[in-house]
Amino acid sequence: MFSRVFIFCSCVIFLGGCVYDNEPMPEIVTGNGSVSRVIPPRIKLRQENANVYKDIPRDWLPPSRVEKGWRAVIIHHSATDEGNAAIFDKLHREQNHWEGIGYDFVIGNGIDSGDGQVEVTFRWRKQIPGAHCGGTSGNWANKDGVGICLVGDFNRTVPTARQMQSLLKLIRFLQKRYGIPKSRIYGHKTTPGARVTACPGKNFAMTQLRVMLN
Ligand SMILES: [Zn+2]
Repeated sequence: MFSRVFIFCSCVIFLGGCVYDNEPMPEIVTGNGSVSRVIPPRIKLRQENANVYKDIPRDWLPPSRVEKGWRAVIIHHSATDEGNAAIFDKLHREQNHWEGIGYDFVIGNGIDSGDGQVEVTFRWRKQIPGAHCGGTSGNWANKDGVGICLVGDFNRTVPTARQMQSLLKLIRFLQKRYGIPKSRIYGHKTTPGARVTACPGKNFAMTQLRVMLN
């Protein structure tokens, strides 16, 4: 009996733990004698979450066992014409001697990844601080800000329409999930405390982006 309860419990924890936030844990109640029963997790929260995030790619939702709160979003450009998460990962390891790519998300421009394709990096999956916004006091922007990089050099060009669509969808998801107001959606160069930089480029339409956010 115990092993059957254990297996059932493990399955519930495994299935719930991968996707949903604040998933209630199943509860084991021991009755008279050796009879035990399992009270399954409440499903109300699961239904609400599934509905709220039904159009969101599953890999945008961090594993609930590691998920933390986030307070801001920092937008970057790659300052290159091309690239993708794997290419930046290699670059950041070899040139900067970081443990991997500094951003949480990379949005492709159709050259080395799909136009508007959102790649999720190991930093987001593990919910660990980024390495994308140097100079901030206490490194707050790396610790508490989600780093999103759009592939392109927006001092010379502009983001593609699909990149902007994906960026909007991603930011709206982050705002909803973590309660981030639009006043804390920053371009790298306007992030409080950040080092002087041109990122995300003079052509990046930060003002228009903010108008489209809640
Ligand atoms: Zn930047």
